[in-house]
Amino acid sequence: MAEEFDTKKSAKQLIELESFFSDFAVTKRSDSAPPQKGKDIAGTLAEIEDEIRACRRCELGTLRTNAVPGEGNCQARLVFVGEGPGEDEDRLGRPFVGRAGRLLDKIIVAMGLKRSDVFICNILKCRPPNNRDPRPAEIVSCLPFLKRQLELIKPEVIVALGAHAARTLLETNRPIGQLRGRFHDFYVSDFENPVSLMPTYHPAYLLRNYSYENRQRVWEDMKKVLDLLGLPVPNRTVRQ
Ligand code: URA
Repeated sequence: MAEEFDTKKSAKQLIELESFFSDFAVTKRSDSAPPQKGKDIAGTLAEIEDEIRACRRCELGTLRTNAVPGEGNCQARLVFVGEGPGEDEDRLGRPFVGRAGRLLDKIIVAMGLKRSDVFICNILKCRPPNNRDPRPAEIVSCLPFLKRQLELIKPEVIVALGAHAARTLLETNRPIGQLRGRFHDFYVSDFENPVSLMPTYHPAYLLRNYSYENRQRVWEDMKKVLDLLGLPVPNRTVRQ
């Protein structure tokens, strides 16, 4: 009799316990994966970087001095995507550290931001010899790395620097002059809302064509980016 009483009691306790925990289970269970925290994102990004440094998917992997995975804030709201590493980047393993990089730094500072606020990376993670244009097969091999980086960082805005980055991400052949100046939808993954992508001139192009009009165009593009992010737009004028 005493045994029967104990069984009933523990069965009741079990039911109570189950409903207690299932309350929590309801809130925890979700169709999509829970968002990763900063530390997890940094860790997973570091794993992707290791994969990039070991990559030999195309011949650029055997020609490089250093792979250039990208760097910056792993929870950045804004990501800059360039074309591919140049000589300085290949030597140092860091993106945009040469002349074009110094101009990009100035643009970022003019926006009221720091390099450490944003994430900077490229379509190609290894330098094409003599800075030649990326080949389609190289882009196809390398693009999954960038997509994985963007999936993790989940930026609100991507700035595509130059024709190669813009055309690759938007899957178009249209000239950069027609693409820049307005936002385009970019689908980082099939399951999420599109990210706003602003194409603009590459800093290296700007250095070669350092006209007032071109600098003004880039600044207008960056003002739109700041506006979309809800950040203050510095009241600057481009010098003639
Ligand atoms: N140009 C690019 O496109 N990327 C770099 O990292 C440097 C120069």
